[in-house]
Amino acid sequence: MEDLILRAAKDIMNSKYAIALTGAGISTESGIPDFRGPSGIWTKNPEAERRAYRSYERFLADPKGWWEERLSSPGFLGDLSKVKPNPGHYALAQLEKIGILKWVITQNVDALHEKAGTQNLLEYHGNAFKLRCISCIARFKPGEFDVKKLAKEDKLPPRCPKCGGVIKSDGVAFGEPIPADVADKSYTEALRCDLMLICGTSAVVYPFAELPRVARRRGNVVIIEVNAEPTPLTMSGISDYIIQGKTGEILSRIVEEVKKLKGKA
Ligand SMILES: [Zn+2]
Repeated sequence: MEDLILRAAKDIMNSKYAIALTGAGISTESGIPDFRGPSGIWTKNPEAERRAYRSYERFLADPKGWWEERLSSPGFLGDLSKVKPNPGHYALAQLEKIGILKWVITQNVDALHEKAGTQNLLEYHGNAFKLRCISCIARFKPGEFDVKKLAKEDKLPPRCPKCGGVIKSDGVAFGEPIPADVADKSYTEALRCDLMLICGTSAVVYPFAELPRVARRRGNVVIIEVNAEPTPLTMSGISDYIIQGKTGEILSRIVEEVKKLKGKA
């Protein structure tokens, strides 16, 4: 593993435009359960998964009912506001700070990259702490709407102050299109990068899964996986190599080596 960490640090130093893709695996070390692992949210509660699959459909058919239900039941991720970033999030924020990492594209809605200080962040599946207008994609802080008052006055769903569109949570539901701004920018970055660091995700959920494949087809790009187990990316040769283990530990050690190399340069 030591060799691979050094190899990754060198590849990163040699890159001109590095980006990172992250998924649930980078946040499990912060205590957030993943979805399909042994103690995953869906594994433990298949009914919740079936409901989640219908969530966007239900929202479109009955946004008022969707909001009422949201007000009466806690989210399945529990209280995310108390969760803290782990060394993996901080390592990526460091890589950005020293000018190497240009963007982080995450599937996570937990806002931990933001909390760790990453500036150039694309939240592919949205952010659990934000709301979004489904018509014009404007995003809002939940505090900008008094949904309890709106519920009392029978005025749900909240409406966008900019365009009058219906407001929903920013977190992208099953069946919901990825917001166009984030989808387009992520695609552009996948086309542009010469190094892609894939952390804590097997990238099997489309269209996110398209990003490493788009980069691979271009050739002339180094794709490094940091994952607990080999993934379809490893098996199909989309990644050049995998460093297997805990993302927090591995990313921290890569950043240490990058800093050493940078010191020598
Ligand atoms: Zn709007």
